[in-house]
Parts: sequence; structure tokens; C-alpha cells
Amino acid sequence: MQILTNPQELTAQCRQWHKDGETIALVPTMGYYHAGHESLMERGRQLGSKLVVSLFVNPTQFGPNEDLDAYPRDHERDAAIARSHGADLLFMPEAGSMYAKDHATWVEVPDMARGLCGASRPIHFRGVCTVVMKLFQLTQADVAVFGQKDWQQQAIIRRMVRDLNVPVRIETQPIVREADGLALSSRNVYMTAEERAQAPQLHKGLELARALARQGERNAGILRDAVLRYWAENLPLGRLDYLSVVDAESLEPLDTLNGRSLMACAVRMGKARLIDNILLED
Ligand code: AMP
Repeated sequence: MQILTNPQELTAQCRQWHKDGETIALVPTMGYYHAGHESLMERGRQLGSKLVVSLFVNPTQFGPNEDLDAYPRDHERDAAIARSHGADLLFMPEAGSMYAKDHATWVEVPDMARGLCGASRPIHFRGVCTVVMKLFQLTQADVAVFGQKDWQQQAIIRRMVRDLNVPVRIETQPIVREADGLALSSRNVYMTAEERAQAPQLHKGLELARALARQGERNAGILRDAVLRYWAENLPLGRLDYLSVVDAESLEPLDTLNGRSLMACAVRMGKARLIDNILLED
């Protein structure tokens, strides 16, 4: 596995691979790998003849009071994991090589970035779209793999790719969870033992909504109230950021389930902000 930090060298290598008839799968990440990242790498390995993994804690997607400096990092371990999953290239740039001092161009999908996580993280998706677009340009990847864990992110990236005719296919992988249901996240390490013990209730609340939807409940407000009541009882350490029912593709809020409804949430547990989501209909 090659490790590159220089964007120009990344482009040169990817161009050469395309010339040689290879196809490139890209897995963008911020590192501190867990089994969720590993599942994306495995999928990327199947989808392209060359697998590029990027590891970049992208400063432009963090707000001023967010955890950019505290974000957990372990590059040596990450490199070993990427290698063990068959990555051909690990791209680990410095922020200074990705963003010129007078960087002034942004990619935004404002209508899809206003709600859900965007409500409390107003610049987040602009940073995500911009860095992902840069990675698409640098690699000219044929396919890129994202996680369902960040549902809003992959929905926005799909829209960006469609609207700007980016020649890349977007693949989304299911959420990888701990045995108790907690979605794996690099940020789970921020939780105390007590918070961690309660955290699986987040997913259990969403499962309750899906069970009610399967029994025929179509009213999004009723489903939402049922989850909030469940959390009030079982997740007392959680502070709600949002709990919403939206169209899974457009992310428009729904009053009534429409056949492709997603329930998504963010809850703060001490220092950690946990996100999760569930498709309410099969
Ligand atoms: P991050 O390093 O947190 O930016 O995540 C990189 C990619 O891994 C994103 O596409 C995430 O959606 C995905 N990802 C993170 N956690 C999980 C998980 N538990 N299951 C599946 N994919 C995940």
C-alpha cells in the first residue's frame, strides 16, 4: 500500500491507473477506524480494481466550537487497518495542501443542508461537499463508498453528483453496530461508562418507531412522540438535538409516511453527539 500526502501525486497515480485500464474505488474517511470504516473498505475492494482510502480530518466541516482539535487520531493503526483491507493507496494530506490560504470556492446543496444535522451545524455540509468534490477531482474515482450512518451526508452527495454531472457512482453501506445496537462511531470514545451504558437506547427508540410503522402507524408526529417518550424513560442522560421524519431521498420533513420515510436523530451524551437513523418502511 502506498501512502501519499501530496494531492498532485495522488492525481498522477490515479491517472496512471486509469491509463492501465484499472477502475478506482474511493473511501473518504476522517480516520480512527472501526468496523464501519472497514465495511466501506471491503465494499470498495469489491467495486474497483484499485482501492483508494482518504484519511483527512477536514477542518472546513467543523464549526468554531466543535471538536476539530480533539477529534481522535491514530494514523499508524489506521494505516495498518487500511492495508489489511486491501487498500492500494492511503491518502493522508495536510490541511495546508488541500486548502490554499485564499481558498474561496465552495460546493453547497443548501436546501438539503438546512435541516437535521445542518440545523445545529450550519457550515458542516458545505465543508463536506467541498472536500468530497476535491477528492473526486483528485482521484477521478469511478465509485465512492459512504456509510448509511451519515444518511444526510450521502443523500447530499448523491444530489451534488447528480446536479454537477460528476462521473462517479455513489454506493451506500449499512450501519455497522455494536452487539448492543449502538452505531459505531469514532466519537463514541468521548462517552463516560455511564453514558455508554445508556447509549444503545438511542437505536432502541428508533426501532420502536419502525415497529409501530410496521403495525400500520403512518402519522410521523405520533411516531416521533412515541420515541421521545421512550427516551425520556430510558435515555435520561441524552439531550435531544433533533428527531425528525423525512423523505429518505429529498430529506423534506414528512407529516405522513410516504413509502420511503427515514427517521433520523442526533442526541448529545455528555461530550459526544450521537447520530443514528432508521428506514421506517422496507
Ligand atoms: P468518518 O470517518 O466518521 O467521516 O466516516 C467515514 C465514512 O464511514 C462515512 O461515509 C461514514 O458514514 C462511514 N461510517 C461511519 N460510521 C459508520 C458505521 N457505524 N457504519 C457504517 N458506516 C459508517
